Amino acid sequence: MDINFNKLFKQELERGFYDNIYLKLCNGEKENNSITIPKTCKSRLNGISEYNRIWNYRFLESPCRIGRKSVYCLKKINGCQIKNSSYKCPICYSLDPNIDNPCEPLNKLMRIDISKNFAIIPNVYPYLETQFLVVSRSHIDQGQLLNNQELLKEFFQEIKNLLSRNNGVFVFNGTCGNSLDHFHSHYTTTKFPLLEMLSEKLNGYFDFEHFRGFSLIASNELMVSELISTILKNNLTYNFVVRRVGENLQFIFFIRHCKILEGVEDLNLDAGGLSGYIVTTDKLNIDENILSKYLDTTNRKEDYILISSQFKSGGRRRSKTQKIKNKLFRKTIRNRK
Ligand SMILES: [Zn+2]
Repeated sequence: MDINFNKLFKQELERGFYDNIYLKLCNGEKENNSITIPKTCKSRLNGISEYNRIWNYRFLESPCRIGRKSVYCLKKINGCQIKNSSYKCPICYSLDPNIDNPCEPLNKLMRIDISKNFAIIPNVYPYLETQFLVVSRSHIDQGQLLNNQELLKEFFQEIKNLLSRNNGVFVFNGTCGNSLDHFHSHYTTTKFPLLEMLSEKLNGYFDFEHFRGFSLIASNELMVSELISTILKNNLTYNFVVRRVGENLQFIFFIRHCKILEGVEDLNLDAGGLSGYIVTTDKLNIDENILSKYLDTTNRKEDYILISSQFKSGGRRRSKTQKIKNKLFRKTIRNRK
């Protein structure tokens, strides 16, 4: 299917999908009493601004994502009554065309079915540029999908197709830095600092400039599935960012250890955060020490060393080529300066 995310975004913007949220009333009036919208918020996209930089990490505040926690926006309208909906999952609820959502303009959510198991919807409360979601059409758990060979193959093919026509990246947050169980992966055109610096040829573990991850150039889903099972076998979790490199996909995996130790502040960073682009509703009071403690606890060097030693597709070549490939990463950084 020929999807152009930039066009879709413009279309959604023009038809008012990102406008502030109001509660629909029976007489056709709108009220915002239940959802307090600050005067500065002209829409849900407003007010995103950078307030801090640590190393190459950028910190942004997104104060207008108002309505996200409104109890009304997950209910339905029956006649003039606002009733509880039977859905507990916000994505299942959003995908149901028969639910009349009492919150405007959420009642106008667009949905495009792109394959047997996947659909595209806009991110209702966006915090990245041109942000859309690829979601499973039925409720599949975030973790389950990537353990299922058939589904992973379909997902791999779909994101590859989408990235052949669109310049952005996909972000998958797994179970670390994520708030929804229903399988979803974010599309965005946000330029993540890490990806701007990372060589498209790098294959294997990297640990530079305060960024740590595992880059996998994959020509098919089998390599991805092998890396995921190696991570899971060690009782670790993961998230990743993926971009298209020629005929392949480059997955930048973050091997996560989400148990926060005592004395470490939980920043709850997702894969976008570990790629250097951190967006929160309120400003974080943070310094180098807090960030480095968090990274050392949840994105641990020892886990990368462990996984690198066990991962066959990347591991066999690793010891020989690691040095050369690490140079590629440094060269990219130097060129930027
Ligand atoms: Zn669901």
